[in-house]
Amino acid sequence: MRATTIVSQSTPIGNSAISVVRISGPDTFVFSKKLSHQTSSFKHMEAQYLPVFIKNNEKLDNAIYLPFFSPKSYTGEDIMEISCHGNPNIVLTVINEILSFGAVLAEPGEYTKRAYLNGKIDLLQAESVALLIESKSVEAVYQLSKNIGGVTSKKLSNIKKEIIQVLSIIEFELDISEDESYIKSQQNTMRTILRKVIKKIEGAISSFDTVSAHTRGLKVVFAGKPNVGKSTLVNALINDDKIITSPTPGTTRDIISTNITIKGLPFSFVDTAGIHETKNEIEAVGIEKTKEELRSADIIISVFSPDSEPVDFIKDKYKIFVHNKTDLKQYLGNKKDVLSVSAATGSGLGSLRTKIANRYSSFRQDGSLPLITTLRQKNSLTGTLSSVKASLELLGQNSPPLEILAQELTLAVGQLDITTGKTTTNDILDSVFSSFCVGK
Ligand code: GDP
Repeated sequence: MRATTIVSQSTPIGNSAISVVRISGPDTFVFSKKLSHQTSSFKHMEAQYLPVFIKNNEKLDNAIYLPFFSPKSYTGEDIMEISCHGNPNIVLTVINEILSFGAVLAEPGEYTKRAYLNGKIDLLQAESVALLIESKSVEAVYQLSKNIGGVTSKKLSNIKKEIIQVLSIIEFELDISEDESYIKSQQNTMRTILRKVIKKIEGAISSFDTVSAHTRGLKVVFAGKPNVGKSTLVNALINDDKIITSPTPGTTRDIISTNITIKGLPFSFVDTAGIHETKNEIEAVGIEKTKEELRSADIIISVFSPDSEPVDFIKDKYKIFVHNKTDLKQYLGNKKDVLSVSAATGSGLGSLRTKIANRYSSFRQDGSLPLITTLRQKNSLTGTLSSVKASLELLGQNSPPLEILAQELTLAVGQLDITTGKTTTNDILDSVFSSFCVGK
């Protein structure tokens, strides 16, 4: 079936100096000629300043037309990028005109999906594109750029080669060699390879938390009894008055989240309803939501004040205990590691910011290992890991069951192919690309 030609705006919607409309597909240049009334042929990556005509040959705008010839384009198809003036009415009119020629509106992520289907990038790279656009720190941009360049795909393909090396020794034994002493002589080599593979995969899986922290930002949840000054503290830390504070307990009933960066590192600060016993239904909903937020927090700031005690929310979560309102009374309790601050005067806030930012030091990454950026990749790589571990165990037996071993290793390779998207299903593709924005 002949591919459709798609069109959409590739820059954000709104008023700007320039907006880019992108066309991709077999009729790209036919439609571009109709739009510009250009008669001579376009040349690959040769920009031209040409008019934009709409119905009745009326000139709407002048634009820069930048053509990319298949296969040397983002999607692998013919592409035209039309940079027109950044007015939403101009953009809409241009897109409508191209639609009237027979193009269809691009679905979210369709350009990247076509790039994947045409073999320009693998699934891992495609997923990194989506995250790159949304990532909240420069560090994340560096990491994801490497992935888009194919660094992780290359490292995973090396792991695959190592597994295949072991698999081929076993298949040789199964198909050709009848000599048991051959497999015995290879047993140590195979185990050494698999042990190394396990280390690399484990490192890759743990990289997910690091990448995720840098792309999404660490979630910092402020919790404590009502009126201890949580909202005032969050406001003071973000230098903003977005959150309503009042002397009446229980004001913050909805969860309020704000994205901020500290020392260039991304965080989302979440202010919550005070945790306490209540008969008020609306407040009870707020408290339930607070508990949800606490469960998904990366850092809990447990706030208390001179007239209350520190609360130890959820075990095994990283917590910072903050004694607020120090301007009224110093903390004299015996709990260790309590940070004294005053949201009102600003004292101690610098130390609190530093302590929050330092949390990133627990996310160090070995640069030689592949970086895993999505839950999908993490899950399929976990599948590879369990098959490789099972194989190592089988190899430890006196007479390893070679057929089962070959099956496990084949499974491991299959899961690796799913990670990079070498083999995939429509469901996976749909869920990956539906998270993209239109125009990417
Ligand atoms: P929340 O219910 O924990 O969010 O508490 P709020 O932020 O609404 O604060 C409750 C009251 O304590 C307000 O009247 C604040 O002005 C006051 N407050 C908050 N922080 C401080 C502080 O550091 N010192 C003093 N003196 N008052 C504070």
